[in-house]
Amino acid sequence: MTDKLNKLKTILGEVYDLSTALAVLDWDQQVNMPVAGSDGRASQASTISRMAHEIFVDDGVGELLEALEPYRRELPPDSDDACLLKVARREYNRRKKVPTAYVSEFAAVTSAAHMQWEHARAQADFSIFKPALEKIFRLRREYAGFFAPYDHVYDPLLDEFEPGMKTADVKEIFAQLRPQQVKLIHAIREKTAPDTSFLHQQFDSQQQWNFGVEAAKMIGYDLKRGRQDKAAHPFTTTFNLNDVRITTRIFPDNFSGLFSTLHEAGHAIYEQNISPLLERSPLGTGASLAIHESQSRLWENLVGRSREFWTFFYPRLQAAFPGRFDDVSLEKFYCGINRVEPGLIRVDADEATYNLHVMLRLELEIAVLEGKIAVSDLPEAWNEKMREYLGVTPENDAEGVLQDVHWAGGAIGYFPTYALGNLISAQLRETAEKAIPDLDRQIANGNFQILREWLTENIHRHGSKFEPQKLVEMVTGSKIDPAPYMRYLNRKYGEIYGL
Ligand code: ZN
Repeated sequence: MTDKLNKLKTILGEVYDLSTALAVLDWDQQVNMPVAGSDGRASQASTISRMAHEIFVDDGVGELLEALEPYRRELPPDSDDACLLKVARREYNRRKKVPTAYVSEFAAVTSAAHMQWEHARAQADFSIFKPALEKIFRLRREYAGFFAPYDHVYDPLLDEFEPGMKTADVKEIFAQLRPQQVKLIHAIREKTAPDTSFLHQQFDSQQQWNFGVEAAKMIGYDLKRGRQDKAAHPFTTTFNLNDVRITTRIFPDNFSGLFSTLHEAGHAIYEQNISPLLERSPLGTGASLAIHESQSRLWENLVGRSREFWTFFYPRLQAAFPGRFDDVSLEKFYCGINRVEPGLIRVDADEATYNLHVMLRLELEIAVLEGKIAVSDLPEAWNEKMREYLGVTPENDAEGVLQDVHWAGGAIGYFPTYALGNLISAQLRETAEKAIPDLDRQIANGNFQILREWLTENIHRHGSKFEPQKLVEMVTGSKIDPAPYMRYLNRKYGEIYGL
């Protein structure tokens, strides 16, 4: 059996090498490459992804998995090998069901759609993107069909990003969350918003960069096994567990770049602390997008926008930007960076309104897949929901239905993971507080290691051994649950806004 297992591990290692090589090409494209290189890069990327796909779905892999099935059943179910065989089998079955012709059509359609989306967004005109988006929804419905029978047409799409998660689960979680979030926002609207004028000043870009790097290091991002570069849309990428890179963007007239650095560092800390035993295998990465997002949002918001974090960092910020914050008290600063302002753009949304942006997208995706609305109805349906949930109306499609890149890339089923990540981050923070009773004091003293180590012990080191719901339950004792997040929001904003 060990021969067969080693053979399988060798093949999976090669697939890992190819997909991380792809990550290097993608990182280079987003960080360094001249635009003119994009056609050449597209062929390189397509060749390598095809190679990775072919190696993985080869019948030989299926035979190995089959032959190893009795062996797997004898292993302790949570052992590395048992989890590896389970995850490899799930991934193999999933990919095997999708015909190669579909894979190439989908790649061609989404690659063209990206340009049409960019063009449409620049012109703020949905009609330019509409034909491409119709094709994408048609293809995604076809994809779901490969996995029939299913409980819901959205299930196979969601499963790609959140293994094991069902549409019914997400709907139930969001149904509990939505009225509570809307109620909180209405209550906040009755109150006077904190002053944020001091956040809109000129801040030296290099100083911002240095401050961000220092903060990322303090929370546990290991720069000896990573680096930060600039990119238009910040992201984190893993070449191997000892080379996990982040990117950020800096604006000279505000320092939102710092929060973006903390966010990406949260993703990177996760990957850097996966057990080395899982390297070069399908287990050597985060458990799912939602679990990943729970890590980034935890460091960005639950830590990075907390009073304790700034108790430690505010004097340092004042010293880094002399004269900028002389008359701004720590309390005023804290309230300012946590101001709630219902807006049009998801990526700019504060903690109180963010999830509503996500719910809107989920509802529209499901409505189109179920045939309840047509793609051509999306702009109006979008605007209606924005009014209903957030009380704001986009003036054009660019700040409405065209704002996010995900649909152009065919990533339907992706959005819920952002909101689920927020919920998990609050569950983890509550659980960590029980395990580390003086956590707040530790953070106020600049000791972030204690929390990072707790996360590594409970989340990071497992890589993707466990399905997200199982992992959350193992750590917190309950499945994904909106209550801790609402407790967190109500306490935080109750205090800031005097609710
Ligand atoms: Zn993220």
